[in-house]
This record gives sequence, structure tokens and C-alpha cells, in this order.
Amino acid sequence: MPRPLAIPQDIKDTLLDDNFWSELKEIADAGEKIMPEIVSASRKRGDSGTLDQRIQERCEFARAGMKLMALTTGSHMAKGFAPLCNPPIPTGMMHCIRAIERIVRKEYTPGRKSADFSKLAYLLKRVRHLLRVYYNFIVARQADDDLVFCDWETIFDVGITLHQVGLCLLLDPPRLRAVMAGGGKELESFLLDEELDVGAFRVAAIQVEKIVEADPESEDADRVASSKLERAAEADLAAHTMAWFMGDLAVAFFLNEKDDSDADEKRWAAKATKRLVHWSTSPTLRDAIGDPLTDAMRPIYWTTTALVKFCQAGGLGALFGDWVNSSGQVLCGEILEKLPDAAWKNQTPTSLRHVTREIQFKLTHEGDGFASDPILIDALFKMYKHYGLAPFHKGAKAEKSRDPIVFHYIERQIKRDGLEMRTPADWRRLLDSYINMPRSVNRRYSWSNMTISGKWDCLEYYGCSNGEACPERKALEALREQRVRGVRDPAVEQRLEKWGAKPRQCAACGWTAYCSSECQKVHWADHKPDCLKKRKRA
Ligand SMILES: [Zn+2]
Ligand SMILES: [Zn+2]
Repeated sequence: MPRPLAIPQDIKDTLLDDNFWSELKEIADAGEKIMPEIVSASRKRGDSGTLDQRIQERCEFARAGMKLMALTTGSHMAKGFAPLCNPPIPTGMMHCIRAIERIVRKEYTPGRKSADFSKLAYLLKRVRHLLRVYYNFIVARQADDDLVFCDWETIFDVGITLHQVGLCLLLDPPRLRAVMAGGGKELESFLLDEELDVGAFRVAAIQVEKIVEADPESEDADRVASSKLERAAEADLAAHTMAWFMGDLAVAFFLNEKDDSDADEKRWAAKATKRLVHWSTSPTLRDAIGDPLTDAMRPIYWTTTALVKFCQAGGLGALFGDWVNSSGQVLCGEILEKLPDAAWKNQTPTSLRHVTREIQFKLTHEGDGFASDPILIDALFKMYKHYGLAPFHKGAKAEKSRDPIVFHYIERQIKRDGLEMRTPADWRRLLDSYINMPRSVNRRYSWSNMTISGKWDCLEYYGCSNGEACPERKALEALREQRVRGVRDPAVEQRLEKWGAKPRQCAACGWTAYCSSECQKVHWADHKPDCLKKRKRA
């Protein structure tokens, strides 16, 4: 999601030339213009008119998103490897896509069995295969003979046609039933058992990221390499394109389950629920399929009984995720404002962790203003009301050291001060105190959350406010020079830890902190004018 750019002038001046920034600004401005269109399209339910009209209306959200993508990453505009002929190459991508569309949409007659339904699994597998071939080439320049079958104008043509077919089945349950009966086990397995193909690069990127995060001695160079791999993997839209269809189908099976459903429908719904929860709450899959899934999920979100059922099955974090970071964020905000209390029931520690992870993400990226958001306050209030401190404790032990410290802070304040937190207003006050937390306290928290190599890397930014004049910092800088990867000295690490973790704070303003009273005395002449200013502000 592009956001309005707020880049400080001094960073602009030093980083890159003017052209780069003006181009970036143009993109952001264009994005801002399209936002109202995206928001209004996200609310379109397509619940009246003919089936085709309803499908068209539901597709407006995807089309608006495509416009935005065209202006930003351009990824939806990716051209096929081979030119699109008329008629398309037999067994090529567009040949398969048109065949699927014909079988499901155009030639379907209610009540009549079609022998073609049994071809759908083959056709869909062929589409998945060609997407894989194409993106292996895009991401890693892997050649494959089948590239000549990748014949589309833009990849969006593939995605949107699949989406229309998916919506047709979602909006017409008897048709889905007929297709499933004709498609047999093979189709069921493709739609409900086989995992989405996120690609080898994304899998590798996730593994490397985990290794780097887990290694206490990993350095900035490791993190740069890891994020490069991640960026390469982001170009792989194979799962994304497939999700336009797979998401609609999973939602269709989920929504179709009624009290009087037969055994088949119940089995499909159970499998669909599991995959929807997994796809929408796993960070990996969210990254890989993103907006097509958000788009598909809308009918669950706007149908209260379905939403409560989905949340209680573990999907609560998905709605928060779509509110925090998706093109449906306005719509999901509106839905969260009216979220029934029942949606919070039956949550597991894992499903609550999905919620806290999304909240942390939003706080990292949006900062202070977010802390007074009524949706956030209501979420924290409900979470505490139903589950006490446990989810906050778990949220504080985030798997990533760079996650913010809000849950750590909340847990500590509630425990230490014995806060009762009975009303949303209590939560508002607590979040205010978090936002206004003295800088020195904030730094101490951040310090305690850093890995050991992070602490070594950040010596200059944390620890004693006496800066270069601090003798202990000088000593630690010298020790840093002697470090050898794989050889750790607990005594030295303890010294480093202590230097950053227990600073003496300037009691008057709370903004500076020192490793010793000597440093505080030495620094006073420098700090005095600043201290008076800071005190006035508080
Ligand atoms: Zn010092
Ligand atoms: Zn001060």
C-alpha cells in the first residue's frame, strides 16, 4: 500500500537525486487519487442483478487494485513470455484459462451434467505449472521449454479471469455442487488439499530470515543479504495469481455450509476453513498472496454470523491483518468497529498471537497517532477482558528482536502498578503513557530487546548519553574491534549489557541517561539548555 510520503528534507538531500524523489512522489500522489476508488470498490457487495452483473460488481475491487499496482510496482502488468495469438496456442496459458471460463461460466446449463467438468483439475494444474515456469524465469532466469506456452497480454488477465470463474461458483452454489460432482476426487484434492505453490525462492528467503533472526551474532551484512533474497522472492506472483481463484473457492465452501449440509459439503467446509485460517494468518502466505485473498474474504467479513464463525475458528488475526496492511483496510476498519464480542471467544494462544503481531506491525509503521485509534483500544480492552495478561506476555516475547516493545510495556505496567483496566478509557490512558514514555526508558527497552550483535552494532546509538566522552563506551568500542565471530566472551557481553541496560536517568527531564554518575556530571554543561526546554514541554 503506498502512503503519502513524509521524508525529512535532510534525508532527501543526502540520499538520492531529485528525479528519484519526484518520481516516487508522483506514484504516491497517483495512489492517493486512486484510494477513494479502491475504498468504494471494496464495499461493493454485488448482491443484486443477474449473475454476470454481480460478478462484474465484485470485480471492481480487483480492477481498482490493479490500477494502483500498475502505477506502483507494475507487477500486475507482467507480460507473457510468448505473444498471444488468435486462437491461443493449444495447451498454452490463455487456451487453458479460456477453456476453464467456457466450461464453468459460459456452457453451464443448470441441471445438466457436463463431461467437461472432469477436465477442470487438469486445466487448473496446467495453469499452476505455467505460472511456476514463468516466475522461475522471472525470479531466477531458469529456462524451461514450457516458457513458450506462457502467452498472455498481462498477468492480470489471467488473474481476473480466474477470479470471475471463482466468483461465478461462489455466487451460484448449485453450480459449484455440479462442478464438484463432475470433477471428482482430483478436483477436490486440487482445490482443498494441495498447498499453494509459493516458489522455492520464497521458501529459501523465509529459511534464511529465520536463521539470521535466530543467530545472536548475525550482522547487518547478513540482514542485508536476507532482505535482498526476500525482495527477489517478492517478484514471484505465481501463488498470488492462483489465489484469485483459490480464495474465492475456499470462501464458497466455507459459506455454503449449513446445518442441513450433507457429508461432502461438511468435509469441504472443514478443509476450506483450515486453509483460509492458515492462508490469512501465516505471515509467509499473507506476503505471497496478499490482496487476492483479502478480496475473496470480503463476504465472510461482511456477514456477521460467518465472521464470528471464522474468528472462532482461528481467523481473528486475519481481519486485523487486513485492517493493518491491505487494500481493504478501510472496509476492515468499519467491520472491526462493529465486531461482536462473540468473535473474541474460543481464541487459542496462537490465534491471539496473530492479533498481537498485526498490532505490533501497525505500531511500528504508523507510530503515535495509532495509539489513540478506538479500534486498537477496543481490541486491547477485549483481549484483556477475555484472556488476561497471557496474550500480552506472549506478544512481548516477539520472535523478532526489532518488534516494538508495546506489549512488554503493557505487561510490565499492569503488573507493577496493579492496574485494573476495566474500561476502554483505562487502555487509552495506558497507551498515552506508552507514547509519552521518556526517551531514556524507551531506549532501555529497545536495548534489552536487541540481540548481542545488535547491541555491538548500535553502541553509538544506545547506552550512555555522554556519547564519545564516556570512558566505558570507549573501552567497549575497543573490545568490539577484537571480536571474532563464533567466539563469545560472557564477561564482556555482561559488561556491554550492563552499560546499556542500567543507565542513570536525568531525573529532571527523563530524556538522557548515563552509565554512571561521573558521566552525568561531565555531560551536564552540554545537557543543561536542552534539559530546560524538554522540561517545559512536559
Ligand atoms: Zn557513560
Ligand atoms: Zn535533563
